[in-house]
Amino acid sequence: MVASVVSCLLRGLEGRLVEIQADASVGKNGFFLVGLADASVKEARERVRSAIRNSGLEFPKQRLTVNLAPAVLHKEGSGFDLPMAVAIALSLAGRPPPEGTAFLGELALDGSVRAVPGVLIAAQALAAQGVEDLFVPEGNAAEAALVDGLVVRPCPDLAAVMRHLNGQTALPAQAWALPEPPGEAPVDDDLAEVHGQEAARRALEVAAAGGHHLLLSGPPGAGKTMLARCLPGILPPLTLEEAMEVARISSILGELDGVPLRWTRPFRSPHHGVSTSGLIGGGAGVARPGEISRASGGVLFLDELAEFNPAALQALRQPLEQGRVTITRTAGTVTYPARFILVAATNPCPCGWAGDHLRRCRCSPGVLDLYQRALSGPLLDRIDLRVNVTRPPLQALSSEPAGESSAVVRQRVVAARGRQLARQGCLNGALRPAGLRAHAPLGSVRPLLERWASERGLTARGFHRSWRVARTLADLEEAPAIAERHVLEALGYRLDTSDAA
Ligand SMILES: [Zn+2]
Repeated sequence: MVASVVSCLLRGLEGRLVEIQADASVGKNGFFLVGLADASVKEARERVRSAIRNSGLEFPKQRLTVNLAPAVLHKEGSGFDLPMAVAIALSLAGRPPPEGTAFLGELALDGSVRAVPGVLIAAQALAAQGVEDLFVPEGNAAEAALVDGLVVRPCPDLAAVMRHLNGQTALPAQAWALPEPPGEAPVDDDLAEVHGQEAARRALEVAAAGGHHLLLSGPPGAGKTMLARCLPGILPPLTLEEAMEVARISSILGELDGVPLRWTRPFRSPHHGVSTSGLIGGGAGVARPGEISRASGGVLFLDELAEFNPAALQALRQPLEQGRVTITRTAGTVTYPARFILVAATNPCPCGWAGDHLRRCRCSPGVLDLYQRALSGPLLDRIDLRVNVTRPPLQALSSEPAGESSAVVRQRVVAARGRQLARQGCLNGALRPAGLRAHAPLGSVRPLLERWASERGLTARGFHRSWRVARTLADLEEAPAIAERHVLEALGYRLDTSDAA
């Protein structure tokens, strides 16, 4: 008879129900597998056949056909092993699977069930489609158990699954376990450890408060990396919804490592040699999330910005504007979240020492000019805040008192964000010109900003950048209107040449 077992196919962060039908019928010996992407078929057949035999189960001697439906969907991956083996065993036994059940997992040749990527996403999709009982690899049980309304059964091996289905020994269920968000998010790098650097500390706070992208320019050893690493700790703690989104990305990459929910905001720091697909997402088959999606909800730090492949930086523009990235491959189109604060760091010049108080810059004016122009590309149009970071004099490291802790700064950030969300439903960093006019009127300070813009040759984009930042500065002070001091401080967060038309 035909036995039909339910499983799940992943398309990025979405899951589609797949039906796996096994038919052991009279006929010539053979094992036919239909509906799986070519490359995976042969290996899947070998794993399933060996796993069934090594689990003390009978493998059909007659003709065996396994079909994965719907046929039009491109299916790849090893997660269909377990449902295929279950369908085969049930077909041979002439029994239907229990109602409302689904199976996910790779089989080792000895019949043990191995973890697969994306189980959290599959569990959510299957629960939404009425599945009540989900059989998963033991290594994926914790993530599946985040989904309400599912009975999750961790499966050690195929034999144990069949004993359960045969009514011999029940597989214990993993209890639903949705952790409560902690009151205080853990902080990996604390601003209290940053000595001096008042201007950069202030810029970090403004970036966090308004969701503004930030460029740190300074010589080697100025502490740009440490400053960037402090940004996640002054952002508000992840909400449950945000933590689930971070977990979904980790799940599809197979990187949850048994800890389904983490509460620290992501901090990703790809090397400048990263490929475009490594940064944006991509790869063979269904596109995998890239660094920008791993950073979603947190911070993407690009150190030595000038060294990155220009094509990769170019590809950042769309996600920076939209907060998500859409990737098309022959296997299908997927969309991943990409809501991050970009912190870029650069040396002030090719030799690295322009503006330093001890060492001299050896760059010629021509080289300096070229460097500035390379940095003033379209990517920088999306960066609202630019700040120079200088090397603190050595004595500052020991003598200056430590600054405020991240927890103190975070309170101001959270309050300022709350005001923006209540007023306009988004952070100031996401306001386009129409939104600025509607929600952040310049009022009496408009002439000041306009005069400055025309005297210094500010582009329209540069004008809007300073406007957005001024609004955030006002929000940090609980000021209802943008005042002159906000505009003047906002105009300070620029590197001059990059705004010139
Ligand atoms: Zn130089």
